[in-house]
Amino acid sequence: MTDNNACLKMDDEKTEVGAVVYKKCSGECGLEKVLCKENFYWRNDKNKYNTQCKVCVKIKSKKYYYENTEKISEKAKEYNKEHKNERKEYKEKYYQKNKDEIKKETKQ
Ligand SMILES: [Zn+2]
Repeated sequence: MTDNNACLKMDDEKTEVGAVVYKKCSGECGLEKVLCKENFYWRNDKNKYNTQCKVCVKIKSKKYYYENTEKISEKAKEYNKEHKNERKEYKEKYYQKNKDEIKKETKQ
C-alpha cells in the first residue's frame, strides 16, 4: 500500500518538478516539501492539503498546548486563592465536628 496517488494529486498552489509535486510550506519553516501525506495533512473539508507542513502544524499545536496549560494552571491558582477561605472554613467545621465526637468518646 502506497500513498503515491495522494502525492501526485493536483493542487492549485502546486509547483511541479518532474513527476513529484512540491509545495512551499506557509508555516515557520517555509521550505518546499514534496506534496504528499507524509509532509502535509490532507484537509477533507477543503479538499486540499494544509498550507503548513506537518512539522509546522505540530510545532504550532504544541505551542498552543503549552500556552493553554499555562493558562489553565494560572486559572487553577486563582481558583485556589478565591476558595482558600471556603476550604479553611470547611476544614474548621470538619475539625469542630470531629472534636465533638472525640469529646463524646472520651466522656463515655
Ligand atoms: Zn513547515
